[in-house]
Amino acid sequence: MTIETLTAFAKSRGFVYPSSEIYGQFAAVYDYGPLGQQLKKNIQAAWEKEMVQKNANIYGLDAGVFMAPKVWEASGHTESFDDPQIDCRGCNSRYRADHILEQFDIDKDRALLTEINAELDKLHAEKKIKCEKCGGTDFTPAKQFNLLVKTNLGSPTDELTAENTVYPRGETCQGIYVNFENVRQSMRAKVPFGIAQVGKAFRNEIVARQWIFRTREFEQMEMQFFVKPEDEMTEFGNWREKRLAWYRDVLKFNMENIRIKPHDKLAHYAKAAEDIEYNYTALGGFKEMEGVHARSDWDLGRHSEFSDTKLDYFEEGSERFIPHVVETSVGLNRLFLACLHEYFDTEEMKEGDTRTVLRFPAFLAPIKVAILPLSKKPHLTEKARAVFALLAEEFVCEYDETQSIGKRYRRQDEIGTPLCVTVDFGTLGEEAEGQCKKDCVTVRDRDTMKSEEVAIGDLVSYVQKQLAN
Ligand code: ATP
Repeated sequence: MTIETLTAFAKSRGFVYPSSEIYGQFAAVYDYGPLGQQLKKNIQAAWEKEMVQKNANIYGLDAGVFMAPKVWEASGHTESFDDPQIDCRGCNSRYRADHILEQFDIDKDRALLTEINAELDKLHAEKKIKCEKCGGTDFTPAKQFNLLVKTNLGSPTDELTAENTVYPRGETCQGIYVNFENVRQSMRAKVPFGIAQVGKAFRNEIVARQWIFRTREFEQMEMQFFVKPEDEMTEFGNWREKRLAWYRDVLKFNMENIRIKPHDKLAHYAKAAEDIEYNYTALGGFKEMEGVHARSDWDLGRHSEFSDTKLDYFEEGSERFIPHVVETSVGLNRLFLACLHEYFDTEEMKEGDTRTVLRFPAFLAPIKVAILPLSKKPHLTEKARAVFALLAEEFVCEYDETQSIGKRYRRQDEIGTPLCVTVDFGTLGEEAEGQCKKDCVTVRDRDTMKSEEVAIGDLVSYVQKQLAN
């Protein structure tokens, strides 16, 4: 599948739209349509169930997007949250220098600027780097570009100065660290315990040309697990395995599409860092979807130092210590993109016909049940609307009375709806050949395409059972 096919599919079916499209599109931001926002919510709910609901010692949090600017000094973001950038002198197109080097199998991820420029100079001398847009070979040297977005929130002047700059958060985990003590005290939590949150993050990505994979506004699902120093590496291994098990056993991903990539270079404080990569074929192969990191006592240590607040921990019979952190961090949008890859299927049918099916597990499907009257005759649609009202109390449903029943089934297959409920003249008690009995409907299964007759009185429990399978 190409990225063009995928974006066109996602737009036409109501999953993802370009931002501000009627104004010519706003780069690197995307809007999630009726089905996309529902899918996103379902992915988030599945993650929260796994991380918070199923773990008695992990607590949820919803911290603000804006935080005291000093947070970003303590975290090191104002100083070194940089990516190296080069510009084409011919047309001003901008590139990530480390990504260009990657194309030549040179790994300079998080390397010093001098090292990056030395490698670039060699390639420039051989005219190996060409601008994708204009074909030019004249580039500026690499310079660091800070990824934090700047705003003047709460400032009496609209001029941005070093004093009044506020940053919408560049990652969600800082909200977790600064609330460590609040959560510990209010929840009477004992180490080891975790705090998890889902929320927006903002980064001034230099180049964001990979649809929803890399955007300037995105969502992260992060969990920080606070542990004793001696348990850090064991917990790191545990969490890597738990995260892989979630993809395998809950999301039912084909594990050939997932691989682990340890970081070649670690941040100076980190004990270990691994990426869980997904095979985004539409983007050319394996890329980072989630990170699992052992971060030592760096985060709480730095916030303790910069805020002058004690963030250490003590239990009867033990020494005081600053808890170490094991982090799992997955981009909600990147997981959304992985789901579109993973569940998208085209199935050969009879006589050279094919159908497209999004084989979402029921808990991820944006629409659980579609209610389809066989025709638009008013007395039939009235009954179908009553069936919709009955089911919509319990499930996210769609009502559709346009086009032939066959086309409507196909449309529901394409958006991954597990069940279609057809209301026909038999439902109304009218004599009609091949139609269902009075007060019954037919329920069609997306995957088997088989239909079953179900009494309306049993419909809610029937659907519940089918969706749980
Ligand atoms: P990359 O190397 O791809 O820029 P990163 O290593 O900077 O990512 P982290 O800071 O570890 O990413 O963030 C954790 C997760 O947040 C990533 O694994 C990814 O899923 C998601 N993420 C990070 N940046 C973006 C972005 N610009 N757009 C969408 N998701 C992102």
